[in-house]
Amino acid sequence: MLPPIERAAELIARSKDLVVLTGAGISTESGIPDFRSPGGIWSKYDPEQFTYQNFVSNPAHRRSYWQMSLEIHPVLAAAQPNAAHVAVAELERRGQLRAVITQNIDGLHQRAGSSPERVIEIHGTALAVVCLSCGDRLPREDVQARVLGGETDPRCRECGGTLKPATVSFGQAMPERETALAFEHAERADVFLVIGSSLVVHPAAYLPVRAVESGAKLVIVNLQPTPCDEMASVLLRGKAGETMAALVELSAS
Ligand SMILES: [Zn+2]
Repeated sequence: MLPPIERAAELIARSKDLVVLTGAGISTESGIPDFRSPGGIWSKYDPEQFTYQNFVSNPAHRRSYWQMSLEIHPVLAAAQPNAAHVAVAELERRGQLRAVITQNIDGLHQRAGSSPERVIEIHGTALAVVCLSCGDRLPREDVQARVLGGETDPRCRECGGTLKPATVSFGQAMPERETALAFEHAERADVFLVIGSSLVVHPAAYLPVRAVESGAKLVIVNLQPTPCDEMASVLLRGKAGETMAALVELSAS
C-alpha cells in the first residue's frame, strides 16, 4: 500500500470538486494563536463576558471588548499567509477547487490568493466592522484607529448605532447564508479536505460527515485526532504548511 501522503495526493489529483475546510491549525503557523487553546486569549479573558448579548446590551462590555481588541488585532493584522494557505490557492488555480470553508476570521486565504467568492467564512471576519442598526460595513483598520485614538465604544457615523466586528461572537447565531452554502458545497464535494481543524465546533464538526454521506472521500490533515478520523480515507498527522506543500507538489505530478 502507498504511504498516506501519496494516497492523499492521488485522491486530490483526481478530484474535480474539491472542498477544503480549514480551522485554527492552519493559522497557528502564521503566528495566530488558537484562541481556544491553553494560553490562548480565552484563558486570559473570560469568554462568558464576551457574549453577543453582553456586547449588544452593555456599554461596559463593549468597552472591554474594544480594549481587548487593542491587544489582539495587531497580531491578526500583521500575520502573513503560510505555505498551507498558498497550497490551497494553488489548488484553485488548477481549477479543482469548489470552495474553501474556513472557521478562521483572519482573511489569510484571500491574502494568499484564494478568490474571495470561493472563501466561505462561517465564523465571520475580523477584517470588517458592521453597524448593528443600519448594517453599514467598515474596514476594521479604520475603526481600530478610532479606538486607538480614544473612542472606547465607537459608534456608527451614519446612524449612531453600535459597531461590532463582523465575527460571530459567543452566543450569536451562525450566519445563515454561509452555513447553508458550506453544507451545499460539502454535499457536492468529491474530495473533502480538512486542514487544521479539530472538528469539535459546530457546524464545522458536521460538514465532513455530510460530505462522506454524500459520497466524498475525506482527507484530514491535523496534528491531533478528530472525531471524524474513523470515516477518513486518509489521515495525515502533520503540520499544515509542510504537509500541504508536499501534497500539492505530489498531486501535480
Ligand atoms: Zn449605522
